[in-house]
Amino acid sequence: MSIFSWGAKGAAEGTPGSLLDQKHLSQIVDDLRDGVVAYDQNYKILVFNRAAEQILGLKASEVVGQSFTLKIREGGSTARFRILLTLLFPALAQMIVRRSEPGAYPQVVDISFEEPPLELRVTTNKMTDAQGKVIGFVKLIHDRTRELTLLRSKSEFIAIASHQLRTPLSGLNWALEGLKNESLSGSEKELVVQAIAAVNRLRKISEDLLDVAKIEEGKFGYNFQEFDIVPFLENTLAQAKSVASQYRVRVFLEPPKEGSLTTIGDPQKLSLVIANLTDNAIKYNIPNGEVIVSVERLKDKPFIHVSVRDTGIGIPPEELKKAFTKFFRAANAVKVAVEGTGLGLYIAKNIIRRHGGEIWVESTPNRGSTFHFTLPTNPTLIPAKEYVYEED
Ligand code: ADP
Repeated sequence: MSIFSWGAKGAAEGTPGSLLDQKHLSQIVDDLRDGVVAYDQNYKILVFNRAAEQILGLKASEVVGQSFTLKIREGGSTARFRILLTLLFPALAQMIVRRSEPGAYPQVVDISFEEPPLELRVTTNKMTDAQGKVIGFVKLIHDRTRELTLLRSKSEFIAIASHQLRTPLSGLNWALEGLKNESLSGSEKELVVQAIAAVNRLRKISEDLLDVAKIEEGKFGYNFQEFDIVPFLENTLAQAKSVASQYRVRVFLEPPKEGSLTTIGDPQKLSLVIANLTDNAIKYNIPNGEVIVSVERLKDKPFIHVSVRDTGIGIPPEELKKAFTKFFRAANAVKVAVEGTGLGLYIAKNIIRRHGGEIWVESTPNRGSTFHFTLPTNPTLIPAKEYVYEED
């Protein structure tokens, strides 16, 4: 029996002279490497290709023509259909990350299962009749389990390597600090100071690499708690003071009208975000420039909004799209600050996403940039689990 059981029209029915008849179309769908599941509005399965059989561990013959409802799940014998049911009714998924705007088609979600371990990217589109009436849905299921396993093992290697670098680098730093205090000539001292700066840059690179590796392994480890973001921002900004005066840049905090703002998050991880955004706003600024950090509660949504505005060099418009990708460094930034890992914003984006927030930037070259992020104030908006993030 053909896997196509709905009455397709025109070419699919095999009208003479048509390029593709139904048999060919079935064959193409059946040979796809991604799973294809199509169903009507009553959740009656119409198409279930070979890849879907393999990924979901079911035979087309046992699902095509069957209508699925949420109730089926309650019976003990339906455990085998668990994955299919979760794909049909994503509200059942325990680990799900949306990759597209809610309500917009095609909808893209990543769904993970622990037993058996599966990482699926599911793209859902509507099927419509000639009048545009929705007659069902088609899901394309891409199995990313192997891809993500490889990514995790690569990250594990980087994590171990950067962790191993820590001890000798600390030793080197300790020895150089000792040498600096010895009675050295002016030029010798200068060399030692340069060596200390180089060691510190190496330590920063290895710390950033370690953070990225842990994030990509899904093992960054978050501790969520309620806290007032205002004193938290004051403390984090106080630590940027010496760098700010070195660059002759003034940093201000614009507190919210309410005076205090309680939010939910991991303060240690969020301090990495704030420190990175303010460091950048200082480093890519101009002498006598300003950095203004402001925080407010959003009026109509359960989120707070933090922004870090500067009067610096900005990011060229053609490069803005890449701002949060790994190792990104804009051409104008490389000129003013030769050193930099290009990992800080990538780490920041991962931390904010893990909190259920969004991060974005607006920028005008030679005028300045504003980095924004949101954080939910409602714990149900925080994703249930750390999720391996890849760039999108
Ligand atoms: P790094 O600062 O180590 O290069 P980041 O990931 O923090 O790495 O930033 C990536 C790039 O984004 C920077 O190299 C720079 O090109 C750009 N950038 C970030 N913040 C700013 C800013 N406030 N003003 C201008 N460019 C910025």
